[in-house]
Amino acid sequence: MPDLFIDGDWRAARAGGRREIYCPADGRLVATVDEAGPDDTVAAIDAARRAFDSSGWPGTSVHDRSVLLHRTADLLSAHKNDIARAESLDTGKRLVESEYDVDDVVGVFRFYANVAAENAGRVVDTGRPDVRSRIVHEPVGVCALITPWNYPLLQTSWKVAPALAAGNAFVLKPSELTPSTAILLMRYLCEAGLPAGVGNLVLGAGPYAGPPLSAHPDIDLVSFTGGLQTGRQLMAAAAPTVKKIALELGGKNPNIVFADADLEVALDFALTAVFLHSGQVCSAGARLLLHESVKEDFVDELVRRAERIRLGGPFDEKAETGPLISADHRAKVEAYVASGVAAGATVRCGGARPDDPALADGFYYLPTVLDDCTTAMGVVQEESFGPVLTVESFTDEDHAVRLANDSVFGLAGAVWTQSGGRAERVASRLRMGTVWINDYHPYVPQAEWGGYKQSGIGRELGAAGLDEYRETKHIWHNVRPAVQHWFGDS
Ligand code: NAD
Repeated sequence: MPDLFIDGDWRAARAGGRREIYCPADGRLVATVDEAGPDDTVAAIDAARRAFDSSGWPGTSVHDRSVLLHRTADLLSAHKNDIARAESLDTGKRLVESEYDVDDVVGVFRFYANVAAENAGRVVDTGRPDVRSRIVHEPVGVCALITPWNYPLLQTSWKVAPALAAGNAFVLKPSELTPSTAILLMRYLCEAGLPAGVGNLVLGAGPYAGPPLSAHPDIDLVSFTGGLQTGRQLMAAAAPTVKKIALELGGKNPNIVFADADLEVALDFALTAVFLHSGQVCSAGARLLLHESVKEDFVDELVRRAERIRLGGPFDEKAETGPLISADHRAKVEAYVASGVAAGATVRCGGARPDDPALADGFYYLPTVLDDCTTAMGVVQEESFGPVLTVESFTDEDHAVRLANDSVFGLAGAVWTQSGGRAERVASRLRMGTVWINDYHPYVPQAEWGGYKQSGIGRELGAAGLDEYRETKHIWHNVRPAVQHWFGDS
């Protein structure tokens, strides 16, 4: 069966392109899928435009759209095992993590199924008895939804669920490295009753299949999650047609530990903050900021535990984390570590590929701790998107906040302290979209997610995540129109 979904049909790529998908854990071929070119993308945009303009979809009731989303959630839940397996084969991540991801995806669909009916609009009191004035929300139109490879289906759900809840049509382009769960999602959306043309799927390399998604005049909104450089390109390409744009970009997230923290808990979380999914997490706590009085012992113990982290493939039940997504990506992480060492950082552990022959066919990289880092170093400023932790120290609260904010990014950060006052002071001064106090990583669909500064524009999840996909219209109804004589009788 072909893999592009355009105008209600599964189609092969017009130019006949195909792409092989390999599991990053062991290099085995896991799928061969159709590879769209720009013509296919334009066909998908045309289909979405027709569906939005002529099918009556945007005028469907919120209730009907909510039923569609709940049905999709039911199907995702029923097929959890197949979806998790496909996600793990594409990404190399542990099966149990993919299973958590599917649960989260189901939660996102249910959240937007319920939230669409809230905040439906409002009546405006104009002070004029002859006027009925109201604010209504309408769908934006045709949305380009572009997603990355690290949490393929989860990131997709953050876009598809609110886009449909608000009544939009969309063209989805997942990462070319991890297409399998997007294909499954489209099947379940169809089974749940999605009308032809409302949801379209193109697969393929960003620079080849992608450009119409940001430049085409029939796209009204580009919602993108991915790297900073790609985000800048899409913004520039979208500018001539003044599209709405929502960007979820990278992060270089500080994890700040004060001396009065519960250090045992902070240490445990410092490991998860950075090494979960081998650091391929936009909100990874990849910058550890330690108070100078606790730094030495904290780092010694952290290194001891990082050295014991067990690497392995998706179905290895003893594995604690998996491989990097590709050989190219591992080469980038290796170059990043080398640049840090050249700038004066000390490798306390890792800094190499594992020597276990059982892992030789995968793109593994050892959990790495770089000590003696300073904010001026490239490794502290740039996102590695790998299992690499940089360590800095601070003297007091002001110093910690200054270091943490000294970044072009502003996605997330954490503060560890048992002082409630300090926790609140620091949290309010951090220029980031999410701040955890005495915790790291949790998120819920009810709470907004997104970045300050160059970590992005707009928010996903929560009520604001729905607003990204809605226009706001003011309807002014004069129920007793009468001449005004503003210009006299002429
Ligand atoms: P990427 O920018 O390389 O690719 C992201 C998507 O954009 C892919 O689907 C790719 O094919 C597509 N793309 C690339 N060029 C394009 C073009 N010219 N036109 C249209 N589409 C194009 O990012 P990636 O390597 O897949 O993902 C890793 C990045 O994503 C990291 O920087 C990470 O921080 C970020 N990320 C951010 C969040 C967040 O919530 N802020 C979440 C996950 C990942």
